[in-house]
Amino acid sequence: MTIFYRTALALSLLSVVACTPTPEHSTVDETAAALDLITLEVLEAHVRYLADDAREGREAGEPGYDDAANYVAEQFAAMGVVPAGSDGWYKPVELRSYMIDGESATFILHRDGQDTALTYRDDFSMSADAVRESTTVRAEVVYVGHGVHAPTHGYSDYEGVDVSGKIVALFRGAPEQIEGSERAYYASSRVKTEEAISRGAIGFISLRSRKAEERRSWEDAKKSIGKKARMAWVNDEGQPSGYFSEVQGSASISIAAAETVFGLSPISFEQALDAAEAGEVASAALGVDVTLAQRSTHSSSSSPNVIGMVRGTDPDLADEYVVYTAHLDHLGVIDVDEEDSIHNGAYDNAMGVALMLETARAFAAAPARRSVLFIALTAEEKGLLGSDYFANNPTVPAASIVANINLDMPLFLYPVADLVAFGSQHSSLHGPVEAAAAAEGFIFSPDPIPEENIFVRSDQFSFVRQGVPAVFLIPGFTSADESIDGEKLFRDHLKNHYHEPSDDMSRPIYWESALRFARAHTRIGYEIAGDAKRPVWNEGDFFGEKYARPAGD
Ligand SMILES: [Zn+2]
Repeated sequence: MTIFYRTALALSLLSVVACTPTPEHSTVDETAAALDLITLEVLEAHVRYLADDAREGREAGEPGYDDAANYVAEQFAAMGVVPAGSDGWYKPVELRSYMIDGESATFILHRDGQDTALTYRDDFSMSADAVRESTTVRAEVVYVGHGVHAPTHGYSDYEGVDVSGKIVALFRGAPEQIEGSERAYYASSRVKTEEAISRGAIGFISLRSRKAEERRSWEDAKKSIGKKARMAWVNDEGQPSGYFSEVQGSASISIAAAETVFGLSPISFEQALDAAEAGEVASAALGVDVTLAQRSTHSSSSSPNVIGMVRGTDPDLADEYVVYTAHLDHLGVIDVDEEDSIHNGAYDNAMGVALMLETARAFAAAPARRSVLFIALTAEEKGLLGSDYFANNPTVPAASIVANINLDMPLFLYPVADLVAFGSQHSSLHGPVEAAAAAEGFIFSPDPIPEENIFVRSDQFSFVRQGVPAVFLIPGFTSADESIDGEKLFRDHLKNHYHEPSDDMSRPIYWESALRFARAHTRIGYEIAGDAKRPVWNEGDFFGEKYARPAGD
């Protein structure tokens, strides 16, 4: 670690000397003056307003979110950013909520003529159906490891097993030998669902790893089971996004319940856990049938993305857009019989929105050659819905979006020494990010937590899926104060405060670090929006090959 960081520091110092990031549209002085408009006091005021109890945790579709959306629009207006939604600042996203009737949730094992019913919440959770009022499916269970088919890595959990008409049981994540963002891709539940369905699977049982249990115990996690509706965005034909009608039942089970399901199977759950951890394929039919059944209720709501624009100054480039995003929504109020039920989301993601607002202030004062969009996104916490909606229904021509820079939960729990840009290694965005980090005195570090699959877990991935090079910025694990262990504080936040009511203004916040980070975030946009060359995926890059638009599209 230490050696690595020293190398990174040396490299970043070199790039300070090598690069003078000056957009051609304005003088060095103008850019510097624009950056100086970003102040610590205003950053803090944004976070305080958005994370206040009065916003009630900004849940998509709720009044607290609308309040926050209104705040963002007013801030944009005051800065001289112009509206770029369909309805002024807003682009409404129609949402379908679907909620399971907990009483109806059924999970029965059928083995050797004997039926064993598991208990909802104690043993399993179950997904509601976004379209059907009820579902029932009975089928044999096939264990498929991580459910990953990665032929370019010589790895397939589906080799030698037939899952047609079966329920697949699988772990989250992907085998460790597949590295970095590719692992994140194979770990994404959408990719896994598509793979399993293409092979005829009709149901899913999600298994819990030891690591997941360590991170958050089932005992703790089960308190929130079935408390909140799930959501999908709905297209003009009324179809919910990300819906697979082939899936007739889907449940998650505790480790204890998994031991029961694997019971008399050719492979024990212990062996399955060991194999999955070792990245070995151990897929097998479990010789047990399972019935999954549930009833769902549905409702509709609408929640807007808030979109502002600063028009570019170069007639040749002004019809191309750099898109800044940060999700504005959070979890709302979740009543789990605790004193504080408001999920304020100060870090997740009031902080990200605050940084984006201040970046917008700089661009409004000193526009770049390309146009820049600033989008406060809705319904990220419901599954990247606001960004997926925008990426599929953009307010500007899809092919004119050149890059996405996303912020989600930037933590300033200690004086931050480094900056991480998830996904930068895949495209030419790497250069601008590295230069911007160095210009603000940050070390530029690689992904410190590849096992968390961050690159596919926030809004930038919606853009990646549309072929747009993207980065997701966070402060790294290195503390400028050597007596503070940054990684320890990060992991503590993830374990004890992430998605909890305690993610509020009582958390430590190093505002000076936030300010410098906001400046670096802004510089990245200036670099990209000021460069006549459009960002490109790296030659032969995994994501570029998968998603890039053909030229001229
Ligand atoms: Zn979140």
